[in-house]
Amino acid sequence: MSSDKKINDPSADNEVVKVKKISPPQLVRGMHDILPAEWPWWNFVMSEVTDLALVYGFQRLETPALEKTSLFTRAIGAATDVVEKEMYSFVDQSGDHLSLRPEYTAGLARAYIEHGLHTWPQPVKIFSLGPLWRHERPQAGRYRQFWQLDFEILGEASATADCQLILAAVALFESLHLPITVQINSVGCSVCRPAYKQALQDYYRTKRSVLCEDCKRRLTKNPLRLLDCKIEEDRELAKQAPQLVDYLCEPCNAHFVKLLEYLDEVELVYQLNPYLVRGLDYYTRTVFEVWGADEGKSALAAGGRYDNLIAELGGQPTPAIGFAGGLERIVAELKTRQVGIPLPSSPDIFLACLGDTARKKAIKLFEDLRRRGIKTAESFTKEGLKSQLEIANRLQVKFTLVIGQKELSDGTIIVRDMENGIQEIVDFNKVVEEVQKRLVAREADTLA
Ligand SMILES: [Zn+2]
Ligand SMILES: [Zn+2]
Repeated sequence: MSSDKKINDPSADNEVVKVKKISPPQLVRGMHDILPAEWPWWNFVMSEVTDLALVYGFQRLETPALEKTSLFTRAIGAATDVVEKEMYSFVDQSGDHLSLRPEYTAGLARAYIEHGLHTWPQPVKIFSLGPLWRHERPQAGRYRQFWQLDFEILGEASATADCQLILAAVALFESLHLPITVQINSVGCSVCRPAYKQALQDYYRTKRSVLCEDCKRRLTKNPLRLLDCKIEEDRELAKQAPQLVDYLCEPCNAHFVKLLEYLDEVELVYQLNPYLVRGLDYYTRTVFEVWGADEGKSALAAGGRYDNLIAELGGQPTPAIGFAGGLERIVAELKTRQVGIPLPSSPDIFLACLGDTARKKAIKLFEDLRRRGIKTAESFTKEGLKSQLEIANRLQVKFTLVIGQKELSDGTIIVRDMENGIQEIVDFNKVVEEVQKRLVAREADTLA
């Protein structure tokens, strides 16, 4: 070949293309691929989520990955870690300030307002399932693109909604066969929280010098977050801090008591956790977290009420409550607890062929079998019969169909029973019916 000649000819040095060492592309830090081997777990979670949504009357609503940055600064709060440090924000070609969604609720609240969902029969129950983005410090099991399932009940102020949503969360983990514990708290409202924040600041101000750097900032900007600092010394301090339940106003207290009554009625076991405050500003009254049996580093799901968010964004006053669960976290828990998940169904038939003419017939036959709902596997790109039959064995199909030269000219096809190795010659035009008959008979044998 001429190119080989050039490479070997020193006089043609100029034309030799130097092979540059190219570094292969790599994942963006903190991102992950979900490879085929992972999907049985992901599909299991996703199908349980959609089944549960149906049972509890939640309809799917998906918002885009991108929203205006101002939506998140207004909804989540400019002084939160999420907005301050973790959002992927940029200015696009039109000069719009946009961010990849770091959570679902803000976008769903926007959609609720924009599409006039307050005119629908209330409460509106919606669920979402998709990826979110946060530029967090990468660590084991925590990713910068991560998936969440999200359930929201909008337009219902009573504790009934809180109870139903918590029960839906519990039911989800029940259907995933994951043992869990539920932690509950109330973070009050705009009436009672200021006095509590003041009490909290008074308590922590005297201890300012020993607080971690984050907590020093929280002291003025977001004092509730002082309670869920992960640093051991600060956790000790939180134990002596004033508790929000002692500061709840009468309506907040009544709401909380009502919720606990409902949960007691259905005999749900829960823990009251006075340090549970959640990271985001918009929460009011009920907040809750669902933890795996051995607790781990982070909750499997978490949520809370946000009665003022939609009005604050310019919509009709709409009390609401929601929860979200992390799919990566849940999948990891399924693996840790070795939960048996349904495997993808294996094919019943393998279709083998020898030669190009036979391959054409086989491609057509594959389509005929598929239309009859017969699960068929093939490896048409393999030339040799041996390598095709090896695959048939590996797939543990019930029957293998073979079209070779002889069968082509006879207008027949070989049907090989993989259980006993018996081969039969069948009229090619009748093979779909013949296969179906044999599969039905095999099914009956298995059941007998
Ligand atoms: Zn209150
Ligand atoms: Zn701290």
